[in-house]
Amino acid sequence: MKYDVLLIGAGPGGIFAAYELIKKKSSLKVAVFEAGHALKKRSCPIDGEKIKSCIHCKSCSIMQGFGGAGAFSDGKYNITNDFGGTLFEHIGRKKALELMNYVDSINLSHGGEGTKLYSTAGTAFKKKCMQNRLHLLDASVRHLGTDINYVVLEKLYAELKDKVDFYFDTKVEKIEISDDGSYRVYFSGDAEKTISEGYADGKFCVISVGRSGSKWMESVCEDLKLKTLSNRVDLGVRVELPAEIFSDITDELYEGKIVYRTQLYEDKVRTFCMNPHGIVVSENTNGIVTVNGHSFEDENKKTDNTNFALLVAKHFTAPFEDSNGYGESIARLSNMLGGGVIVQRLGDLERGRRTNQKRIDESFVRPTLKATPGDLSLVLPKRILDSIIEMLHALDKVAPGTANEDTLIYGVEVKFYNMEVVLDENLETEHRNLFCIGDGSGVTHSLSHASASGVYVADLIAER
Ligand SMILES: Cc1cc2nc3c(=O)[nH]c(=O)nc-3n(C[C@H](O)[C@H](O)[C@H](O)COP(=O)(O)OP(=O)(O)OC[C@H]3O[C@@H](n4cnc5c(N)ncnc54)[C@H](O)[C@@H]3O)c2cc1C
Repeated sequence: MKYDVLLIGAGPGGIFAAYELIKKKSSLKVAVFEAGHALKKRSCPIDGEKIKSCIHCKSCSIMQGFGGAGAFSDGKYNITNDFGGTLFEHIGRKKALELMNYVDSINLSHGGEGTKLYSTAGTAFKKKCMQNRLHLLDASVRHLGTDINYVVLEKLYAELKDKVDFYFDTKVEKIEISDDGSYRVYFSGDAEKTISEGYADGKFCVISVGRSGSKWMESVCEDLKLKTLSNRVDLGVRVELPAEIFSDITDELYEGKIVYRTQLYEDKVRTFCMNPHGIVVSENTNGIVTVNGHSFEDENKKTDNTNFALLVAKHFTAPFEDSNGYGESIARLSNMLGGGVIVQRLGDLERGRRTNQKRIDESFVRPTLKATPGDLSLVLPKRILDSIIEMLHALDKVAPGTANEDTLIYGVEVKFYNMEVVLDENLETEHRNLFCIGDGSGVTHSLSHASASGVYVADLIAER
């Protein structure tokens, strides 16, 4: 089977690349190979009753399938160069912002109209943060919400399905460079029913495999001798508290990205993925259960709590190279002690005692995730825990009540980073016409940056 463009992965990066390719040049023959299911078949079997924990499905419906890791996400599109990736380092700040705004316009025209756009610039809260050693990053945030995000994906798929060959439940196993400089991808799974040879050829190949494809991406880099950079992992916890405590921030900004430099170690701690009136969820990455959060636009699904992550970035230097392995080991430790996610009251954490079910029942904050009450000091390294506690007290000054005894701390939250593939200003590897986009490239870490990288590469391919 011969294609013009082979796209690997149908997360935001792959979807927006496909969308833009067809828009710019509808005659292009484009194939998308996706290890996970089609959108409507994506469903995590954990129901909290019969199936309480991860049963390690062949493809994880939370992380994989049409929509990628973003499908059931909170759908917060942060339009900024301040965080969410370093796309601007390759394509320039102006272009990166222009493409993020373009992605926003596509989302709006596919079901996202009417959703709110928040902005942090010039707010009174920014000043209050500065006065308390906290730094509020500038961004415009389009909040689609998990429900509208899903509608947008449905509409994008409906528009693309007859113009692009989608192969779901199909994992690309290997990429080969043919003698004429084109690419051959070998796959396993459902595509074998249509393409019995088990491979497809294409002049262009775009790899967009996200976080869940990070291990596979490493093997591609080895096979094709692609240069890589590493080496970061973000570790921390998810904080849950009554929504009123953060309402000054969330009503005005929806999400405040706040960075704090600790006095004790001069380490940076940052808030991440704030979910007003949301829920805390567990998430499975390569068999390791970590914590995350969601929120909804639908009033009926809103809870009384707000949750957000507090993360500390760990950068490693030689001889240690496996930053994700370090993060995984810490998450495994929490899984070993708690069977999954651990929850602890801040008061117990600071007193050095384990939280038990009785203390949770007696506390004023009702957890939205059924996690195991435990002791996070047995899991997280002291330096990280100290930094998190220090930041909670700093936040308490701008949002009094943050450091209350009943504030719930869930662990662990890990943000794995893909090693970064060395790419030029076109997001192209050392091999001509082989591109790497989205979180799988290590350049982006967010919906808007990943989507924008897809548009950028698609425009370039259409031109070529
Ligand atoms: C619970 C959750 C909430 C989030 N909330 C937000 C948010 O509100 N805002 C935000 O900006 N970001 C959020 N993120 C991060 C965001 O989802 C990612 O940054 C984004 O999805 C990256 O897009 P991507 O296309 O690069 O990769 P992904 O979305 O990870 O998609 C990659 C796809 O490639 C497929 N794949 C992998 N390997 C192969 C292979 N070998 N062959 C075929 N297919 C393969 C995978 O199955 C996957 O579907 C969230 C993530 C999670 C998990």
